[in-house]
Amino acid sequence: MSLPINKTRIRQIISRQVVSVTPETPLSEAIAIMADAKISCLVIVEKKRPLGIFTERDLVKLANRKTAIANRQIGEVMTSPVVTIPGVLTVFEAYSLMLTNRIRHHVVVDHFGRLLGLMTQTDLINHLGHEYFLEMRKIEQVMTTGVMTVTPDLPISDALAAMAGPGISCVVVEDAFRPLGILTERDAVRLMSEGIDLENGPVSSVMSTPVLTVKVGTTVHKATMLMKKEHIRRVVVVGENGTIAGIITQSDIIKGLEGKYIELLKEIIREKEDVFQQTARELLDKTIYLDNILSSTINMAIIAMDSSFVIKYFNPMAEKVFDCRSAVAIGHSALGLLTLEEISTLSLPLAKEIVEKEGKCLFPAEIKRNGNFLYYDGSLSGILDKQGRLVGFVLMLNDITERRHHEDTIHNLAYHDSLTGLPNRTLLYDRLGQALTATKRTGIGGALMILDLDRFKDVNDTLGHSMGDLLIKAVGERLEGLLRKSDTVSRMGGDEFVLLLPTIGSLESAVVSASKIIAAFRKPFFCGEHTLNVTASIGIVDFPDDGDDAETLLKKADIALYRVKGQGRDNYQRYT
Ligand code: GH3
Ligand code: MG
Repeated sequence: MSLPINKTRIRQIISRQVVSVTPETPLSEAIAIMADAKISCLVIVEKKRPLGIFTERDLVKLANRKTAIANRQIGEVMTSPVVTIPGVLTVFEAYSLMLTNRIRHHVVVDHFGRLLGLMTQTDLINHLGHEYFLEMRKIEQVMTTGVMTVTPDLPISDALAAMAGPGISCVVVEDAFRPLGILTERDAVRLMSEGIDLENGPVSSVMSTPVLTVKVGTTVHKATMLMKKEHIRRVVVVGENGTIAGIITQSDIIKGLEGKYIELLKEIIREKEDVFQQTARELLDKTIYLDNILSSTINMAIIAMDSSFVIKYFNPMAEKVFDCRSAVAIGHSALGLLTLEEISTLSLPLAKEIVEKEGKCLFPAEIKRNGNFLYYDGSLSGILDKQGRLVGFVLMLNDITERRHHEDTIHNLAYHDSLTGLPNRTLLYDRLGQALTATKRTGIGGALMILDLDRFKDVNDTLGHSMGDLLIKAVGERLEGLLRKSDTVSRMGGDEFVLLLPTIGSLESAVVSASKIIAAFRKPFFCGEHTLNVTASIGIVDFPDDGDDAETLLKKADIALYRVKGQGRDNYQRYT
């Protein structure tokens, strides 16, 4: 079973038995070969490569020009260079080339330019399927009506001259509009090979007769079959009365292929268009998805830029962050976007350098809007094309404000007392450590006091634990009010507070502060509807005199406090 014609490659259908000769072959010998083998052309080959071609038509022209044949080589008269076509072409493509090149034989070569075969109209016709003939029924639809006719008494040379005219491959010898004989290019080969004197004698003496004819109304298929059977390439068409109506040639038969070829091309274009539209649709879908993703779901400002930072894309979140509409931003330079807005200390050119080296640049950014700080994780990454060249950048700012607040809360919880919000033991140790280090460096000392409420259990017992809590909070607030900003009031738990005064001018001033506190506790605390009176005891240590580490200082302050408690409470005492 043959392949569909639009898929068939010509190397599958061409005649492989090409008769080839070398350029040195004598012309007379070449003509004899053509006449014997009844072939329409010779391919002249050198080192397996086609050098030229010599066709019946060339011979007719030679004869018409009365060129002497003796002592000539085929290489001198061949058509060279020869048009070659690759064997991988489809039948339609080859046909299209035949039309364009206006030639009936195509030399087919392989990948390396070596002669593969010959593609003739006969090959093409032999390959046409039945469906092709079903479409074009009658020969009158395709035949050539302008037949070159000559009278029987016309000299042979004149008949050859007529045949040498453009587009004419034979002359029909007529008598009263009826075909008497025919002289074709093949006859010319025969005449030349037989050495017949072309100058003298009428055409009737050399013509082929009788003439094979088909009647008007015959199907193209039938005519084709006849031509195939008789090994002829044209057949004269006669009317009902036997007069010449036209001639049908191989070219006429395959003419319809042109339309088919165009149909095929259209189909290919349609298919490509479908693929294209499908791709376009998919692309549009992707774009829509991407747009939705970029614009709605993420809390991330996205700005795409070309390699010179000209903004190409600005998503809605970016509009918010930079307080600028996308329509305004696009087409403008993004240079300075970060620093202009004081969003980050990093500039885009610097970020670009990092991107070029490392592919990506991460940086923190923050922005103040309506009095609140917003925090971002920033990143600049490169956009690479298919060749891996850097063609642009994507700047992304991920809003991490909420996370940051959450982290702050956690940080706060870790370093602060949940009841009073005052620094806890951890933070106190931290600050005490810093104070001790500073003391070593500056020589300026400080003080640490432990304050414990007197008989606090009684408040809990009489008014309840929650009232005790309120009192602890009130105490914390009062203590904070009594000390400097640089001092730390911390709660160690229970009713115990530690006060850190990191720098103190003279030893006396710690005592001054302590007595101020004791005095302040004379005033009642207001907790809800209750007015509570509570006193406090304070143990004081000085650093670096009493010690230069937290443990020692707290221990000694505790000892001092214990002494105050033992001596009646509501007082302070220094360790030393
Ligand atoms: P002292 O004068 O000897 O200090 O007697 P005190 O009654 O104050 O007893 P102490 O300082 O030894 O104990 C503090 C008490 O405070 C122990 C506990 O019942 C209570 N307490 C500890 N933490 C809390 C708290 O978070 N809230 C409340 N309401 N009470 C607490
Ligand atoms: Mg107490």
